Amino acid sequence: MSALINLIYIAASILFIFGIKMLGSAETARKGNQLSSVGMLLAVIATLLYGGLSWWMVVAGVVVGGAIGAIAASRVQMTGMPELVALFNGFGGIASLLVGGAEFAKVQDLKITGYLDALEAQSGVAVPAWFVLVAIGLAVLIGGITFTGSLIAYGKLSGKLDGKPTVFPGQRFVNLAVLGVAVAAMALIVSNADGSTALIAGVSLVVLAMLVGVMMTIPIGGGDMPVVISLLNSFSGVAAAMAGFIIANNVLVVAGCLVGASGMILTVIMCKAMNRTLGNVLFGGFGAASQSGGEVEGEMKAASIEDAFYVLEAAQSVVIIPGYGMAVAQAQHAVKELAEILEENGAEVRFAIHPVAGRMPGHMNVLLAEADVPYEQLQEMDQVNPIMPTVDVAIVIGANDVVNPAALEDEGCPIYGMPIILAHEARTVYCLKRGQGAGFSGLQNSLFFRENTRMLYGDAKATVAGLVSEFSN
Ligand code: NDP
Repeated sequence: MSALINLIYIAASILFIFGIKMLGSAETARKGNQLSSVGMLLAVIATLLYGGLSWWMVVAGVVVGGAIGAIAASRVQMTGMPELVALFNGFGGIASLLVGGAEFAKVQDLKITGYLDALEAQSGVAVPAWFVLVAIGLAVLIGGITFTGSLIAYGKLSGKLDGKPTVFPGQRFVNLAVLGVAVAAMALIVSNADGSTALIAGVSLVVLAMLVGVMMTIPIGGGDMPVVISLLNSFSGVAAAMAGFIIANNVLVVAGCLVGASGMILTVIMCKAMNRTLGNVLFGGFGAASQSGGEVEGEMKAASIEDAFYVLEAAQSVVIIPGYGMAVAQAQHAVKELAEILEENGAEVRFAIHPVAGRMPGHMNVLLAEADVPYEQLQEMDQVNPIMPTVDVAIVIGANDVVNPAALEDEGCPIYGMPIILAHEARTVYCLKRGQGAGFSGLQNSLFFRENTRMLYGDAKATVAGLVSEFSN
């Protein structure tokens, strides 16, 4: 039976690897997702083949967890997806912490020698005590950090918590000190596997890990959230891999490592996009910049849809810059229609995609792919920025932070140093938004006050539909 289970696990792992590979391109992403789901189904079936499971607990878990997951996933709006993902990361973390905790309780019960004997009898492999204890410690530590860190990220993304960074003097030192004590508690567990010292260290580790998660996430706000979300995603994978090592479950190790590695690669990409180093991320260095409000003098000049139509009709080159507001308005289909009309009218149309536009990595790509915008029309920031001064019209659709020149000009502002799409360099800029609302970072945006910028107020979908109908009249 064990050979059969491992064979199925290998098949599941192969499906995961191909699934992730296919997620790398918009054309194959859906298939990749389906492939990975089949892999997960196989892994679950193989796990159920293990003897000694409490069936009523498995069934109760599947029914209760499955119902909550299905309701949450079917109710979520596309714009709420990042919060849901943050919560899922957190649940992954707490699951690993619970596995680590349960195994730690077994170590206390059977004593370490009895525990290792039982593990060898179950998996056929003799594992040294330090290995198991380090894996338990890391599953609890990383799982706990992921759990509370993700809950804070969920709160900030959903607006239930203030999105601004919470900072205080000496924060980095305090964070490092708390992490240091947590690592010391882990070392105590490794050196005293069972007994009262280990028990106290174990309970302390849980509390400290959860504290580190909170401390690590509260100083992060404004435009830096994407980095921490992908980092927590990576942590949830590493914690799962640790849990896999403890219970000698190969597929959990493979899946955890895949999530951990791909999450870490994404973190590095996000760091580059935000112009941060990974060191900044790991030691809670960001958000600590002094908070200049990016106050801007002057007035925002409104234009009518008709005015914008005349300028667009004469435009030879147009760059569309989508942001979170396009997702809120669900304007992607109308935007695609506008792009087609502009092209028929002789303009060259490009979509400029900022890596952190929206609220999750690839948010804009997903929306535009859903509306069948040709992938070749999507251009990355580095591709499009050099040609911005030659562009007749930039249409900013519900984007704010990713086109905020304060990131280039205002050293004191929290998004200083973040690369932006240089919308302000186009000859004319139309900004579509509902009113004076700030972006995710809460900053004012000097783009809206520039001489060459005109505001098109209203819901983005209605405004774009208005432009489309001007062209068809
Ligand atoms: P922003 O959040 O900066 O701005 C969105 C703008 O859209 C707002 O100014 C709002 O103005 C406008 N808006 C909202 N609803 C509508 C609507 N129905 N119609 C028209 N406009 C609307 O978006 P960006 O995409 O520019 O920037 C993303 C931000 O989110 C960055 O700071 C990024 O760091 C952060 N972030 C990104 C993540 C990622 O992975 N991509 C994850 C977490 C955070 P108004 O209210 O006036 O309409």
